[in-house]
Amino acid sequence: MSADRLSSVSKEVKSESVSLCPLGAAAAPEQELLCIFGTGDFGRSLGQRLLQSGYRVVYGSRRPHSCGPLPQGAQVMSHAAAAAQSASLVFVCIHREHYDFLETLAPQLKGKVLVDVSNNLKKNLYPEANAEYLQRLIPGAHVVKAFNTLSAWALQNGPSDASRQVYLCGNGAEAKEAVSEVAIKLGLTVLDRGSLTAARELEDFPLQLFPEWRLPLRLAASLAAFFFFYLLIRDVVYTYAGEGRDISFRIMVSLANKVFPIVSLIMLALCYLPGVIAAFLQLYRGTKYKRFPNWLDRWMLCRKQLGLLALGFASLHVLYTLIIPIRYYVRFRLAGSTISNIKENKTPVFDTTMAWRTDSYYSMGILGYAFYVLLGITSLPSVSNALSWREFSFIQSKMGYLTLFFCTFHTYLYGWSRFLFPSTYKWYTPPGYMLSLVVPSVVLVLKLLIVLPCVDRTLTRIRRGWERTDPKDDTKKSLLT
Ligand code: NAP
Repeated sequence: MSADRLSSVSKEVKSESVSLCPLGAAAAPEQELLCIFGTGDFGRSLGQRLLQSGYRVVYGSRRPHSCGPLPQGAQVMSHAAAAAQSASLVFVCIHREHYDFLETLAPQLKGKVLVDVSNNLKKNLYPEANAEYLQRLIPGAHVVKAFNTLSAWALQNGPSDASRQVYLCGNGAEAKEAVSEVAIKLGLTVLDRGSLTAARELEDFPLQLFPEWRLPLRLAASLAAFFFFYLLIRDVVYTYAGEGRDISFRIMVSLANKVFPIVSLIMLALCYLPGVIAAFLQLYRGTKYKRFPNWLDRWMLCRKQLGLLALGFASLHVLYTLIIPIRYYVRFRLAGSTISNIKENKTPVFDTTMAWRTDSYYSMGILGYAFYVLLGITSLPSVSNALSWREFSFIQSKMGYLTLFFCTFHTYLYGWSRFLFPSTYKWYTPPGYMLSLVVPSVVLVLKLLIVLPCVDRTLTRIRRGWERTDPKDDTKKSLLT
């Protein structure tokens, strides 16, 4: 649109418009004009960023004279007047429920690019995506879904790494190009998700709450709850029912300090179990070109979260263990046994086996935790990005198994020979630590089988593309070919 036309349109709408800063002096004539419908949180933040990036901004509002403070340099006028301006791009920063009135502006908006930034409160609230609805209301416009994954806060404060990406979709290539240009000028990264049919997917993005953490968190909570009640019954209820002693005070530290390492060890083993299952599946199928079952895929995808949660539980175990010497109950018992030894003039005999056992137990625990922390640190994006794929897989795989070995051994040393004593099996139930050893022991044994040279050789060949069955003629090939 020419400057003359722009000035004539400006005159037409002059009576309706309220200028917060005259266009002439502050904004250079060549600066592109963009329109924003809605002077709410998002509209204001977006307008501010657009102005900072060198655009001119005109707002369309229901109440141009009383819409509250807007970014300095922006104009505000009625929707009809704003739509009639020369801006070829209009950001619709209004909730979908209020889109109806836009239909009346169809003539003014014809041929313009409408950017739908809207989100919904929950999934599948409407039969069609908001952007598709907008396109239906104004068929003559080019609707592009974009910016909805950014928050008003992020726009106002400048994009951080977490909110730098703008997903967009739309049916017109030129319209998407125009929106991309603006996004790039704002310092954002554009990811094109295709046609407007992808709008619903984009609208669902902001509704996702840690989707990859859901399964690991549920698992951790279920394991923690199960072992808490299991140990409560075995330790506290059993002692009360059998001996009439109330040791419920142990719930706070002793019981918690049993639940945390148990959950941690099982979850760490569950990080490595899917890899082992996948390896056996590939060996069985004789190819790597068949898809894993969905449940295994999902399991493999949440290994990092499983590992980080396991590390969290291990850290709690470390903290709870550190406070043991200052616990009232421990100090009381220690003082009591020292006094009775003095009274009875008894000198305890030094047990070398016990010394070996406890030192090894602590040493394995410390080493296991140190490797655990290393695994956790290398799973952070900023650290893993600095590693080569080989370095990363060395740490996560080789050192990961070493961590699992140390922690499992630490637990075996904790149990020592107690599994031989019938008194250990209160109400015929095994102690919690014994249950926690099942999955890690299975994983370590299976891993041991996989690293046997004959198995490892076959697996390596399969992973390099070798197939037992010739895909061309379906004949079986010998493993040794
Ligand atoms: P908001 O603060 O409630 O502002 C919405 C604006 O819409 C109002 O200020 C009003 O502007 C206009 N409006 C309200 N009722 C209207 C009606 N009946 N008819 C016409 N216009 C009406 O909301 P917001 O947070 O800015 O969100 C705006 C859009 O951006 C929503 O679709 C939201 O899903 C999306 N979004 C927001 C964020 C965020 O962080 N806030 C992030 C991503 C996407 P006037 O008074 O000037 O007419």
